[in-house]
Amino acid sequence: MIQRLDQTNKIDKSEYIILNIDIIPISSDPIFSGFIHIKDGLIYDFGKNLDQSFLSEPYKIPIYDGSSYKLIPSFINSHTHSAMSFFRGLGCFLTPNTSKNSSMIENFLFPAEKSLTKEDVEIFSYSYLIDGIKTGTSCFCDHYYFIEGVANTMETLGVKGVIGETLCDLGGSFITTQDDWTKIKDSIRNWKYSSRIEPILSPHASDTVSSSFLKQIVDFSRSENLGIHMHLSQTQGERQRTLKKDSLSPVEFLAKCGGLNSKTLLVHMLSADKNDLAMVKDSEATICLCPSSEMIYESAPTELLLDSGINTVLGTDCAASQDSANIFNELKTLSLLSKRYPSSDYLDASCVLKTVTTVPANFFNLNCGSIEVGKSADLTYIKKDISTTLDFEKNIESNLIFSSNDRFVEHLSIEGRFILWNKQITTISEKSVMDEYQSRFKRIAKHCGFMEIK
Ligand SMILES: [Zn+2]
Repeated sequence: MIQRLDQTNKIDKSEYIILNIDIIPISSDPIFSGFIHIKDGLIYDFGKNLDQSFLSEPYKIPIYDGSSYKLIPSFINSHTHSAMSFFRGLGCFLTPNTSKNSSMIENFLFPAEKSLTKEDVEIFSYSYLIDGIKTGTSCFCDHYYFIEGVANTMETLGVKGVIGETLCDLGGSFITTQDDWTKIKDSIRNWKYSSRIEPILSPHASDTVSSSFLKQIVDFSRSENLGIHMHLSQTQGERQRTLKKDSLSPVEFLAKCGGLNSKTLLVHMLSADKNDLAMVKDSEATICLCPSSEMIYESAPTELLLDSGINTVLGTDCAASQDSANIFNELKTLSLLSKRYPSSDYLDASCVLKTVTTVPANFFNLNCGSIEVGKSADLTYIKKDISTTLDFEKNIESNLIFSSNDRFVEHLSIEGRFILWNKQITTISEKSVMDEYQSRFKRIAKHCGFMEIK
């Protein structure tokens, strides 16, 4: 008997077939009432019609009826600071920066972060990563201090990660000394994490990293064939300080240090001008936009960015600016922003979805982000529901962004293994980390002056 996917216990097999499921592969046209065959963590086959030999009883492979679901590749969130989940609700009511030379980053985030420990980072990361999983994300590109803590939490939850210790020798919450840098290089050369977690180099920004240190980072990225994940032009303040320090715009500064190339991910670009964007395009670097967060910080040159033709991915940034790890919010915001600009590259739902699937998968060189034979079975199962519009070929992708969205994420697999089932995390007990999360949260909130010390 074929069991219904919405009525069965969590699938715990290395090989299984789902029938009658609507599939949005991203890299090819949607398939209605198709099948997918998962084997040893990979997509073994998928399509419209399953070979009838699989359907003769007794079944050699467990088969499930997925007619209540649509299936998408799970998302890649290209810019997070997971441990900053403790900022939820603390920063959202602060006024954006009122001066060209200072901002919420310098006035609020840096002072609050100074009291963090590795153990805090590990516990705080649960909150943000779980939020991301429950809203359809399986891979997070995280940039933070004490990144070992984030990696430990990623391993426990079973998600994928591309992680980098924040590197800054001129400013920021924790200064990277040359001793620290030696240890970071050693930890990358002797990588101790599973194949789901990969390293990337994460200089903080152009005003917090000196040219000599950035050149060392660029040299190491070349010798180890690593990417660079860097905030750039994230505020007008950063631009002014870089002009004062190096007589160059942030993009020119990075280029002069040898770091502007196809393996570089540039986050924000809010204070970039036309010349900067032309340089980025020529270099084949990728831009990461975090639309909700950027609306809170400063106004972005939206039309220039959306019409730049530069490879673009999306991130949710930190919870201080955008209180959620829900990348569906960013998909919708990017789509809405694009409506104002008739020449935007992102008027089409398919292009918008690629910013969290195929484009970041290519940038980070990950075998996921689309439903294709041989790709990792990193998949999100979206429940069909009467409260959303009926899908058909022309609207199934835009429905995903505007209607049938994160509320309906029910199961999520990574390498075929379900880490979310019926909206519940399967790899840990959420209750087991909640008490510690709350007590550490209270300590930081008191430190920031948001809670009275009793
Ligand atoms: Zn950031």
